[in-house]
Amino acid sequence: MVTLTFYGGIREIGGNKVLLEDSGTKIFLDFGMSFGRRGLYFEEFLTPRVANGIGDFLAMKLIPDIRGVYREDLLTHMGRKPEEPEVQGVLLSHAHADHANYISFLHKDIPVYCGETCKHVLEAVNEQSQRSIENEVVDFKLRPLYRRDYRKPPVKRRFKTFRTGDKIRIDSLEIEPVHVDHSVPGAYGFVIHTTEGDVVYTGDLRMHGLHASMTDDFVEAAREAKPRVMITEGTRIDRGRTGESEHRVYVKSKKELFNNSKLSIVDFNFKDVDRFRTFYRISKEVGKKMVISFKHACFLERYHSDSKLQVPDSRDENILLLKPKRLTGTYIDEDYTEPYIKKRLGYPNIVTAEEIRDKPEKYMVVLNFWYFNTLIDLKPDGGVYIHSLSEPFNEEMQMSFDRMMNWLKFFNLRFVQAHCSGHINGTDLKELIKKVNPKELYPIHTEHPGMFRKLGIKTRMVKEGKVYKL
Ligand SMILES: [Zn+2]
Ligand SMILES: [Zn+2]
Repeated sequence: MVTLTFYGGIREIGGNKVLLEDSGTKIFLDFGMSFGRRGLYFEEFLTPRVANGIGDFLAMKLIPDIRGVYREDLLTHMGRKPEEPEVQGVLLSHAHADHANYISFLHKDIPVYCGETCKHVLEAVNEQSQRSIENEVVDFKLRPLYRRDYRKPPVKRRFKTFRTGDKIRIDSLEIEPVHVDHSVPGAYGFVIHTTEGDVVYTGDLRMHGLHASMTDDFVEAAREAKPRVMITEGTRIDRGRTGESEHRVYVKSKKELFNNSKLSIVDFNFKDVDRFRTFYRISKEVGKKMVISFKHACFLERYHSDSKLQVPDSRDENILLLKPKRLTGTYIDEDYTEPYIKKRLGYPNIVTAEEIRDKPEKYMVVLNFWYFNTLIDLKPDGGVYIHSLSEPFNEEMQMSFDRMMNWLKFFNLRFVQAHCSGHINGTDLKELIKKVNPKELYPIHTEHPGMFRKLGIKTRMVKEGKVYKL
């Protein structure tokens, strides 16, 4: 018997956690954090208590209460008995938090299967983010974490990486990962051969990006499988074609930066390698140095080591690293305690905000809103700010966005929006599903599952925790 149970991504964008069971073999398709559900109860200063293990997460139903899944230390911490793992693996589609982050809670003996590049992204995230109980994907520290244990090395999670063309066997299941195009490299869809027919899972994907042919490869493999079930994302099922593309981002941004004789600031997600390449290329073409942060350098160096990605090193001649102010605010070596900064302090291409302030026209600074206090040192008097991210789509984002606009106004920076989405639009998605032509469709990662009904394919309106038999 083959069953599917959905524990996240239901009527919401992200938080995917799908349990597939085939004659005793159990695997998860993604185990992500649901931002929407977490945001119902928690915010910046009201968070799940680490002092309760995973107790708060279970109590508020941010993760499902099922046996043989969670870390022994976290169960013990909340007063439960540790459990032997009863799941044989997690297939991770890509390195976005809404698919990956709650792997943090999983038992150390449950292996994570992901693309080689996906692992690089996870490692970069791990290197530059502060350890928290919600982001211990690559490794974790046993809880409760006593001060005397701080220096003990973390427990490393078991990873099994793959590339397109590889076949994965987990007990009775055979799985074919196939690359797809998304706003992070190393993204995959899966074709899973079960005893009751094939199940295909899209992860997150798109057709309008630079690597549409990769998504085509997945669609072809999925179609050939004549799948019994297709589990599909549907982030933008309510949207038609917009004509957006990476090339348009390039053209629009280049025009703005070319004509700008003052400071140029850009903001994009550094996990998006295509977007990095777009802005790196522009910076060279318009004769400005690209200024990145030490956090960005962690990503860039991992990407650089992946020859497939064709990304320059963080010490490239057109790249500078912006030194942040810490402790004394005087840039002395002793000010820096974070390992990811300390190990790079000797780089030859480090720059300070004060140096940029002297010749602002020579630089294109990659600066995220959370670091806008750096503007106080950069002191721009006019210039351009390119927002290469999605526009706000909820109240909280709108509030941050309004605050961002206040900063831009204060420093007389002109706002420009230039972005293209990581997700397939509704028109392309409907075509894609028709091509794959599954017997049954399970839309997740969408606020509008009902819109899939019009396709003439038997469509399930997925309910959380309900067991669906194939
Ligand atoms: Zn997602
Ligand atoms: Zn994603």
